[in-house]
Amino acid sequence: MPNVICPCGVSVPKGTRCDCSERRAKAREKQLDAERGSAASRGYDSKWRRESQVWLAALGEPLCACGCGRKANMVDHRVAAKGDEKLFWDRKNWQPYHTICNTRKAIREEGGFGRKPKVLQ
Ligand SMILES: [Zn+2]
Ligand SMILES: [Zn+2]
Repeated sequence: MPNVICPCGVSVPKGTRCDCSERRAKAREKQLDAERGSAASRGYDSKWRRESQVWLAALGEPLCACGCGRKANMVDHRVAAKGDEKLFWDRKNWQPYHTICNTRKAIREEGGFGRKPKVLQ
């Protein structure tokens, strides 16, 4: 049985289909999944919400660290963790913040477009 070369470069027996379209579809799905955030990172989010709220509650009624005078309702990272888990969970890197100010800060730091701020209103 002669082989044919698929446009993807793989040689397949004539009459059978290369699985590259399937592979491509899978890769695309994986990418979409990564953009949506994996199941692990979704679990991470709920852990973060829980732990940061506990930390915030322990401070009493702290004001937003930006100086706006609002009562903080969330925890922000002084230094953006950008995937650094140690920095992310380092309480010394946490500060009380308000979602309004955080959204503004995220837009400023991340250039606004393309990336969603950590917390939406
Ligand atoms: Zn192929
Ligand atoms: Zn503020």
